[in-house]
Amino acid sequence: MFEKLKNMFSMDIGIDLGTANSLVFVKGKGIVLDEPSVVAIQNGTKKVIAVGAKAKEMIGKTPGNIVAIRPMKSGVIADFDITEAMLHYFIVNACPKRMMLSRYTRPRVVVAVPSGITEVEKRAVEDAAKAAGARAVFTVEEPMAAAIGVKLPVAEPAGSMIVDIGGGTCEVAIISLGGIVHAHSVRAGGDAMDDCIISYLNRAYHLLIGERMAEDIKIQIGSAFPTGEENSMEVSGRDIVAGLPKTLVVTSEEIRDALQQPVRDIVNAVRTTLDRCEPELAADLVGRGIVLSGGSSQLRGLAALLEKETKLPVFLAKEPLFAVAKGTGEMTKELDLLLKNKH
Ligand code: ADP
Ligand code: MG
Repeated sequence: MFEKLKNMFSMDIGIDLGTANSLVFVKGKGIVLDEPSVVAIQNGTKKVIAVGAKAKEMIGKTPGNIVAIRPMKSGVIADFDITEAMLHYFIVNACPKRMMLSRYTRPRVVVAVPSGITEVEKRAVEDAAKAAGARAVFTVEEPMAAAIGVKLPVAEPAGSMIVDIGGGTCEVAIISLGGIVHAHSVRAGGDAMDDCIISYLNRAYHLLIGERMAEDIKIQIGSAFPTGEENSMEVSGRDIVAGLPKTLVVTSEEIRDALQQPVRDIVNAVRTTLDRCEPELAADLVGRGIVLSGGSSQLRGLAALLEKETKLPVFLAKEPLFAVAKGTGEMTKELDLLLKNKH
């Protein structure tokens, strides 16, 4: 009874704690916050200067005493205090101020975490969310949240496959009867692609470019498979030999070559997971195919390449960047039950 009363004056929110972007979903409202997972801190003191979009703008441009950090970068919690600061920012900005004043009305939170993290790290996320103002916390593995977010029938006694490709990781999972049957997480996502573009231009043209430029090139002309629309673009950076600014033109073909390694890693992760799959579940996938979510699933030709390599139909989620957040939001509807059964 008291619990019900508390819930009337409080709210339940879902958080996608991504390696590149974090999103907050509020029941009845949808996505209310969508910002880069970046925290700018004062060097040495760990004093938080900015979080989210403001902090991302500082990357590569900070004066010596400020550093911009991505606390979730490789799919693990790199720094507890900074993760807590980030969660605090998201929770406080998603909830009305009066709600945060009393411990009875603070929000309950579902947080999606990478499937590769340990029990200890999972507990650390729970503690960080509580320290950041949550009244109760439930963690869910990212691929499960993504599968729910794209409306795969996860509760059915049949196999569904989701591949969520974000900034730091590519998470592959086969789900049946509400649980993850097989999961595989590899550090091959958008960051690895950007790094490959940076080292390619360095190697081929002695051109040094920044992370932002690399991401720009990837999104504008990058691909995993020839798509029939070959493009080129002008790229500016610093010539390492001459030490001066330089501009040149790169083609989608050479960028496709540069992206081979991370693209291979993604294909292999999918194939390894399929290899481990029981025959009955594999048979389900023949009809249902594979669903892709996450920002990097939008790389041109990736779905086509995966179709060719797995001989299964591959579908791109409608709003790939929102899949995990929508899934956590969907789970807040069942939060009473989830928290009751949590051990
Ligand atoms: P995470 O869940 O790890 O926070 P996201 O799902 O938010 O990651 O995806 C972020 C990644 O998606 C970034 O590396 C970004 O460069 C990449 N990305 C966004 N749009 C595109 C696109 N159109 N093509 C390729 N990559 C993209
Ligand atoms: Mg994600």
